[in-house]
Amino acid sequence: MDLNEILEKAENATSPPPDPLGGIPKQKLSPVIRWTLRVLILPFLWLELLAEKIARWIVPPPFKQVGTCKRRGNCCHYILLPEVRGILGWILTFWHTEVFGFYPRTQEPYDYEGKRITVMGCRYLNKNGSCSKHFFRPKVCRSWPVIEIFGYPRILKGCGYQAKVKKSYAKKYPGLTVLNETEKE
Ligand code: SF4
Repeated sequence: MDLNEILEKAENATSPPPDPLGGIPKQKLSPVIRWTLRVLILPFLWLELLAEKIARWIVPPPFKQVGTCKRRGNCCHYILLPEVRGILGWILTFWHTEVFGFYPRTQEPYDYEGKRITVMGCRYLNKNGSCSKHFFRPKVCRSWPVIEIFGYPRILKGCGYQAKVKKSYAKKYPGLTVLNETEKE
């Protein structure tokens, strides 16, 4: 099955996807080191988010996020990360799995929209769709769904959020849903 089919199936799924073959792998890094690292990076993460907010204020994106989270958990079941090769790839995988607690759903990445994408799940997702480490959640979770200043928004199918085009950009993005009169830009 390719990733598009998997995500389409997930759109209407009423139960979570199965764990990877062999179960969710145990983490090797000591919890003390893991949580020290997570606490230490938190201020940098907030600074990065603030910088992004300022950039959006200076150059507003053509899309606006509307809607609310349905707590379906799909963005935590299917964390899509572009494959990075070499030593940097190893470091990023270590960081995502040993520090952030993600785990790969499959052994091999998928070809998706012209990129190699690794699909991760997260061990901190509660059964009710909430995050058990909400305060310490990684940047990828805080910035999802992604509304880029340049480029198209990234939102999983079946998500409670939607990216609508601002009225002033309607002609540039024909066929996409435009904000209605009652929605503020
Ligand atoms: S850290 Fe929380 S928000 Fe992020 S993927 Fe895991 S459960 Fe979801």
